[in-house]
Amino acid sequence: MVRCGRGCPTEKNVHNTMTRFAPRSTLRLPALMKCRVWTGTVTTFVLLLASCSYAGAPKASIDPPPVPQPARAHGTICILHTNDIHGDLREFRVDTGTATAQTGDRGRAFQQYPRAGVVGGFARLAGAVEKIRRTHGTQNVILVDAGDTFGDQLLSNLTRGEATLRVMDALGYTFMALGNHDFEYTAANTRRLQGLVRFPMRAANAIVVATGQPFLGDPTEVVTAGGVRVGLLALTYHNTDQTGNRDNTRELKFRSGIDVAREYVPALRQRADVVVVVSHQGAVVDSLLGERVPGIDIIVGGHSHDRIQPPRRVGGAWIVQALSDASALGELTVVVEQGRVRRVVSSIHELYADQYQPERRFVQLLDSIRAPFRDTLDAVVATASARIGRHYKSESPVDVVAAEILRAHGQADVAFLPGLGFGVTIQPGPITREMIVGLFPHPTSAVHERLTGAQIMQVLEQSATNLRPADDMDRVGGLVQTAGLRWTVDLTKAAGQRVRDVSVGGAPIDRAKSYSVMTNGGLLQGTHRYSAFAEGTDIGRDAKPFGVILEEGLRAMRTVRAPAGGSVTLLR
Ligand SMILES: [Zn+2]
Repeated sequence: MVRCGRGCPTEKNVHNTMTRFAPRSTLRLPALMKCRVWTGTVTTFVLLLASCSYAGAPKASIDPPPVPQPARAHGTICILHTNDIHGDLREFRVDTGTATAQTGDRGRAFQQYPRAGVVGGFARLAGAVEKIRRTHGTQNVILVDAGDTFGDQLLSNLTRGEATLRVMDALGYTFMALGNHDFEYTAANTRRLQGLVRFPMRAANAIVVATGQPFLGDPTEVVTAGGVRVGLLALTYHNTDQTGNRDNTRELKFRSGIDVAREYVPALRQRADVVVVVSHQGAVVDSLLGERVPGIDIIVGGHSHDRIQPPRRVGGAWIVQALSDASALGELTVVVEQGRVRRVVSSIHELYADQYQPERRFVQLLDSIRAPFRDTLDAVVATASARIGRHYKSESPVDVVAAEILRAHGQADVAFLPGLGFGVTIQPGPITREMIVGLFPHPTSAVHERLTGAQIMQVLEQSATNLRPADDMDRVGGLVQTAGLRWTVDLTKAAGQRVRDVSVGGAPIDRAKSYSVMTNGGLLQGTHRYSAFAEGTDIGRDAKPFGVILEEGLRAMRTVRAPAGGSVTLLR
């Protein structure tokens, strides 16, 4: 029989014992929760003590319920982590420099892949997870995801998020934090999806307005692995309502994850030996979290798609993050002695095809999920003659192509698209519909309107402010992407005075003049805090949605070349 570090029976056996003796209502197990993991109510904790003869803990009795004492656990746990899968279940090619959205921006410290090659695919991720479980013992390993998980791909749209969650459930994830893109199909759909999987998807700072309670329930979970109680807390991006369709999250309000963590961590600390925050807030905010909230041991991060290795120590917390798009698996070994974290060893497995084998069961499962949709997924729209990347905080080649198609369609002076932080670089060769929708997944309208030169300047200044706000908590979105404009943004200047040398169609911009503009429904609605689009005149929606205009434009081009670039000069 497999035994845990302190001679407990298998967790399965412990759990079976628990379900026999614990009143059902106290076991907050999701309907299909596997035996591998259980939740940390006081009752389950007490029963756990009783079952495990927990070293150093007081002898448990059922009546009256004792207050759990901080235990002095010893043990070693392995925390496996992913983030920002963005529905990307297939392998893809990476090149250093520009591989995914956030590896395209030059000068950022953490986010590069170490070498070129084919990486990822969920089956390969599953293979790596299963191998580590075999090595360390399944009972010593937990697997968490830090959000932006199931949307943002054509297959995601066609299954409303189910495709990714089905494979994650099959792999036995322990816990997931909701990311800002995990509300893309409405909060109601996210609630439906939670009913389909056995692991909790949570966010302590996503609050249901009507009840004041966290969305989908208790955002904490205490699991035991490696003989150690691991307290998990989920946080989402506090500006979620500014990054997607506002209608999707009308029932929710989003609070600062830092404020909310201050409320949850002390109580979680009482119930656990190790406190892990699974955080979809980005590396900058995670550092603030570590600095400002005591009692956190580990922050498993997401949202900024960074490769944080070795872990960063901020305050008492170790911060990790493992790239994006199911291309990497983070592994963290945490050694606990006397109930305290003594040592943390971290690695990131970039899942290169020449090093990691796909798990056969998942290859078959993915094939079966894709099969009904294969015709639309694999439809070839055009051919790329070069790499065309998505960049986030700088001029983005694929967005320049799209903005130019939109501008030409509307015969406008200028086109604007939001700066997006997900997606994988298009490689030379066939461009399929799946690849395009993976870069522009959110259904939106194409908008015609007129803006004055002053309003265009306001848009550009807002973009500069989003990139470098006075308060790091106000960061939202990437550089606004444009066609028909040349401009310089100097982030070293004060907010509001950062944009200069703006020209439209080759002539210096005239603040009083009215220009014809194309954009999309998201920016019109105020995504990323752009208020100027709603203040324009002659606002109308095109008969064709943005996605149709884009696909038709690419088909007409047949061969898509990388744009020359250089329309934006960015000074940091
Ligand atoms: Zn995100």
